[in-house]
Amino acid sequence: MGSKISKKTKSTKNSKSIFLKKKNSDTESKKEFFIESVSKFCDRCGTPYSTSDVHIVQETSSSTIIHFSCSNCLSNHIANFVPAIGTVSRMPINTDLTSDEIVGFIRSGKVSTDDVLDVYDRLND
Ligand SMILES: [Zn+2]
Repeated sequence: MGSKISKKTKSTKNSKSIFLKKKNSDTESKKEFFIESVSKFCDRCGTPYSTSDVHIVQETSSSTIIHFSCSNCLSNHIANFVPAIGTVSRMPINTDLTSDEIVGFIRSGKVSTDDVLDVYDRLND
């Protein structure tokens, strides 16, 4: 009698993979949110961004740094989103760095957005 019950409880294998899928779509929906609220199209060529063009570089409780990379013209933008006051500052980055290198650069020094702006100023000189 007892063995029949334990057989039933073993067949809950699928619930784990559903949970993993949900976790992934959380990041996707975050990216969709940033595309929606920060930048829907590439500033340079007007190509619509997709979630694969968006990288969340740094996320803290006070702000999120998002890197947009256009798949068409390869131009880069960095945006700083401050949820508490709902503001977004966005700047183009004219550099040959790949998105991975930019992400690595920002992560390595834990730079603030001011630092990113500073680097941008220097790149423009
Ligand atoms: Zn573009």
